[in-house]
Amino acid sequence: MILITGGMGYIGSHTCVALAGAAHELLILDNLSNSRIDVVNRLETLCGKRPGFVEGDVRDPVVLGEIFERHPITTVMHFAGFKAVGESVERPLEYYDNNVNGTLQLLAAMRRASVRTFVFSSSATVYGDPASVPIRENSPRSATNPYGRSKLIIEDILADLHCAEPEWNIPRLRYFNPVGAHESGLIGEEPRGLPNNLMPFIGEVAIGKREFLNIWGADYPTHDGTGVRDYIHVTDLAEGHVAALNYLNQNGGLITINLGTGKGYSVLDMVQAFERTIHCPIPYEFGPRRAGDIAQCWADPSLAYELLGWKAQKGLEQMCSDTWRWQQQCRQLNI
Ligand code: NAD
Ligand code: UDP
Repeated sequence: MILITGGMGYIGSHTCVALAGAAHELLILDNLSNSRIDVVNRLETLCGKRPGFVEGDVRDPVVLGEIFERHPITTVMHFAGFKAVGESVERPLEYYDNNVNGTLQLLAAMRRASVRTFVFSSSATVYGDPASVPIRENSPRSATNPYGRSKLIIEDILADLHCAEPEWNIPRLRYFNPVGAHESGLIGEEPRGLPNNLMPFIGEVAIGKREFLNIWGADYPTHDGTGVRDYIHVTDLAEGHVAALNYLNQNGGLITINLGTGKGYSVLDMVQAFERTIHCPIPYEFGPRRAGDIAQCWADPSLAYELLGWKAQKGLEQMCSDTWRWQQQCRQLNI
């Protein structure tokens, strides 16, 4: 059985569907700080079986102790954490507590229960402002904000742990920019308040919830002056986790893998792709660069293919059409 922390959230919920599709038994632990209880009903529909669900906090050793005592957990996938860069600058202690302390508590509980397989949600943010693209896993790492630093610290803790106790199996998966939603329209990203990320913002402009998109910077050294990122469909990302588990069944150890597509698209590319999907213009205005943003970032995903046999399948059109379907569903669900 796999324990999915943060399994009610955006990436965790899609990964639950992918894992259920590969016949894994699931138990979700989530404190619902950034998700809603009814996601579990929608997961039941999509998985064909209701995943186990415990409402609780990864920082709570009592809850963790009970979970490992009562359930035959063999693997932990750790999605729970805070993820907003701007908020992390304003509330660093909360970010280090939830992300770093949460991970430490979880690892300690795993050790007490002799569970040694830990799949970690890292991020392309650990590459900071990359000196060159595409980015390989051995590129230098740096952090420009507490969120990114929390990921760097956890990556280092995991490396130290594996060095001291080589029986641990630890894939550190570095996600690029997850977008889109499940094609059913039943699950997707549910940002609270003003979305930070580009795709949810475009979706809210498209549906009329926001008047226009602010494009943060038009003077980057990119093909059209706007920032370039590696957008990956969230269901492709979810499948990357299944592939990582399959790999672990054959080979153990500490591995670090980029999960990206290898293609970079600018903000304007994304706006235009969305316009093609909805057959309507997306109003936008150019604003100044957003503090801490980098010009461009995309993955060299070849290691994921070599080691895991995984590569992203879905293109920009599907990312946009699935985002749009989900956005319309949000209006119906009043999210
Ligand atoms: P999300 O906020 O949608 O999901 C996180 C889930 O964890 C939520 O359901 C929240 O309620 C839960 N949670 C938070 N703190 C918790 C705690 N202490 N105990 C129990 N549950 C808790 O975020 P997401 O986009 O699905 O991201 C999942 C992971 O992937 C995070 O670690 C994030 O840093 C990482 N990541 C995300 C992105 C991205 O762009 N979404 C990119 C790179 C890495
Ligand atoms: N972006 C933008 N307007 C927004 C949100 C994002 O122009 O309202 C740009 C941002 O400057 C970056 C790209 O879109 O170039 C992706 O930003 P996002 O926050 O989605 O991802 P990240 O910065 O974490 O890669």
